[in-house]
Amino acid sequence: MIPPGATIGILGGGQLGRMLAIAAAQLGYRCHVYDPSPESGAAEVSAAFTCSPWSDRDALGLFAQECDVVTFEFENVPAGPLAVVPAGKLWPPARALEVAQDRLHEKAFAEDCGGRPAPYAAVDSTDDLLRAVERIGAPGILKTRREGYDGKGQWRIENAREAEGLRLPGNNLIYEGFVRFPAEFSVILVRGADGEVRFWDSACNTHENGILATSSLPAPPEVIAQVPAARELAGRIAESLGYVGALACEFFATETAPVFNEMAPRVHNSGHWTIEGAVTSQFENHIRAICGLPLGDTRTVAPCVSMENLIGSEVERAVQILGEPGAHMHLYGKGEAREGRKMGHVTRLSWQGGLGRDA
Ligand code: AMP
Repeated sequence: MIPPGATIGILGGGQLGRMLAIAAAQLGYRCHVYDPSPESGAAEVSAAFTCSPWSDRDALGLFAQECDVVTFEFENVPAGPLAVVPAGKLWPPARALEVAQDRLHEKAFAEDCGGRPAPYAAVDSTDDLLRAVERIGAPGILKTRREGYDGKGQWRIENAREAEGLRLPGNNLIYEGFVRFPAEFSVILVRGADGEVRFWDSACNTHENGILATSSLPAPPEVIAQVPAARELAGRIAESLGYVGALACEFFATETAPVFNEMAPRVHNSGHWTIEGAVTSQFENHIRAICGLPLGDTRTVAPCVSMENLIGSEVERAVQILGEPGAHMHLYGKGEAREGRKMGHVTRLSWQGGLGRDA
């Protein structure tokens, strides 16, 4: 057990790290953030900050020495330099990062655990792409295998002719068949150091331009029907990785069964509603898990919960939203409200149904 008062290292200094650090502080821990960028919303609320590149093994080694346990909020931390963090000190384990960093490995891993992703093929050349479109069909989505997020590194392909004319944006790509679905949802679980697993309710997620826009509960019936199968897969993924911490798996709810989209070996935007909407948030339970503390209750506290991301200039509505009774505002302390940048989110709880605006 890592007792309160100890230091938790967080690799990555964005809003997820900020919310982790706030939850850790509430439990009496100090946080030390590591991020290559000097502008870190997580460092602003933490006891210590190391600002250095991911490739700086000396700085990473010193950081690891100064922390009692290390976790990450950013899944593209290069796995190589992470070797300087002793295995028993890093949770979730490095293997979870390695799997989730590459869409090809991630889908194969989910299949090995009994999951069903969209049909996919590795693409390193135009010939590969044409073969993939012929086998899988179109429309489809060409994605970078690594470092794509929030819809970045994705290109929709309508037909084979379009594929022929495309100048590939490099190699290390993956082509996925386009899945038609009535709804998207995520399964978020926490696995404790003793292997105990708890799930939060699955929110229904909507995306705009590949970026999460809203997560709402209760989810519609077509999602609720598929949650048990999705939880089974997420649980198997966690177990086979020897996982400790919060894990998010995203799914498409199709007519028949859930289609696995991707996993995030960390707290996730579609779980932000748990801060006010669940007895114990994903952030607090992540901290409890990596510190070997008992896990908290994951039950939802209101019949309707909705989380809305404030992206780019939407943050200008923040003050107006604060005028709504019961709106829980979270602003991430970011400077410039650039297009597509997650600036904050608002969570609304409701005991009367509807949009969750009347708490
Ligand atoms: P991703 O970064 O892979 O999570 O993609 C972001 C969003 O794009 C997803 O949440 C979906 O809304 C959409 N998307 C991604 N892959 C597919 C697919 N194969 N079929 C349909 N929609 C997709």
